[in-house]
Amino acid sequence: MSDVSLKTNKLANFINGEWMEVESSKAVINPATGEELVQVPLSSAKSVDDAAAAAKKAQKEWRLVPAPQRAEVLYQVGYLMKERKERLSQLLTMENGKVIEEARGEVQEGIDMAFYMAGEGRRLFGQTTPAELQNKFAMSQRTPVGVVGIITPWNFPIAIATWKSFPAIVAGNAVIWKPATETPIMAFELAKIFEEAGLPEGVLNVVFGAGSEIGDAMVHHDDIRVISFTGSNDTGRHIASEGGKQLKKVSLEMGGKNAVIVMDDADVDLAVEGIIWSAFGTSGQRCTACSRVIVHEAVKETLEERLLAEMEKLTIGNGLNESIKVGPIINKAGLEKIKSYTEIGKNEGAKLLAGGYELTEGDNANGNYFAPTLFTDATADMRIAQEEIFGPVVSLIPVKSFEEAIEVNNGVTYGLSSSIFTNDVNRVFKAQRDLDTGIVYVNAGTTGAEIHLPFGGTKGTGNGHRDSGVQALDVFTEWRAIYVDY
Ligand code: GLU
Repeated sequence: MSDVSLKTNKLANFINGEWMEVESSKAVINPATGEELVQVPLSSAKSVDDAAAAAKKAQKEWRLVPAPQRAEVLYQVGYLMKERKERLSQLLTMENGKVIEEARGEVQEGIDMAFYMAGEGRRLFGQTTPAELQNKFAMSQRTPVGVVGIITPWNFPIAIATWKSFPAIVAGNAVIWKPATETPIMAFELAKIFEEAGLPEGVLNVVFGAGSEIGDAMVHHDDIRVISFTGSNDTGRHIASEGGKQLKKVSLEMGGKNAVIVMDDADVDLAVEGIIWSAFGTSGQRCTACSRVIVHEAVKETLEERLLAEMEKLTIGNGLNESIKVGPIINKAGLEKIKSYTEIGKNEGAKLLAGGYELTEGDNANGNYFAPTLFTDATADMRIAQEEIFGPVVSLIPVKSFEEAIEVNNGVTYGLSSSIFTNDVNRVFKAQRDLDTGIVYVNAGTTGAEIHLPFGGTKGTGNGHRDSGVQALDVFTEWRAIYVDY
């Protein structure tokens, strides 16, 4: 099915412009087939020390390179990614499992981010302001933070890496990057692209390994001034408290419990399309995935019927096959978690309408497949309606009014993405005001955020910092006020 190969059976760290092997490693498994793809290094904290020393040295020079010239490297990265788009997409599907069409979309997002952030290299604007006194000039300027640490997840192994590393690099920082061990191939490929694009040695360093070892060493390292993290809530909170002790700047994105609201005046077919895509795309393994549908009781039955009809059309299997719509779950632990939530839902009294089981036969026998699952008659306080499942499981919660829908939407600890389907312009404006999430969609599902706008959320989703958009630059720069007397 795929014609790409890695030409190596063991990946290496990228430190100070050199590829460095470490002794210990573990297998990276294709979640669609159970086959080993490559070995990923399991580095020790020593590699973080080496990377930090290289980054510190490189940043001293890199910060002096004019920003438009730093941006030139990103343009080059964008061109190389474009040239290799199909290769990157196939490798992404192999290591992550997402279907090839989605993989192409993710790689395209990385390419777009390269050109967008390269443009921002010419727009690192500050302000000049009137000074209080005569013969005084006053202005503000963005300055790089120094050495930054980025920790990226397996569900968007290349896009999220570009959201963080591109603004960091264009703003004049040096980066230490710990990618998820489930999906190291995208990191390996992107580092090779940076190398070919002419990024000076030490400006980007990649250290593979376990979060408990590498992530922890990064959080505790004195020379790393920022940690930008996307991943689980527990890990994010740990990073916040440990990083906080050292007054590190910490940017966190830690998931969601996103809802689609379907009002009684909605175009139900359009809502079904949005729900199918945002609940079952990437097998529900997106921070923005729709895992709750808050439906007005007047359209509940119609919505159920049409959703079930569309769910029957979802083909499940190896995402390299173009006709497949739903790929595998990343690993066995993810699969077990999804299974356990299905049991929890049944025990809590929600009604299972479709799915709820693992696929274990035929072509799917060796991968981690779970059937798209639909519960109905869930209540807002149930665990399946409160906790992040990170799988293809969605629960319908019936409500009686617009006001109740907003209250249920906001009644969770997370605040990433929400959506409302309605044709009432007053409800549209009230919803965009009252939905307590970082992203609000009207008449579209909860996924598919674009890079030009800030990505992130409220409450348990994060700490207010944003990935992508110009706002990402706030994470990787400090403001300096400058006064010149003359
Ligand atoms: N970019 C993705 C979207 O908006 C979400 C990224 C994530 O899951 O972290 O659907």
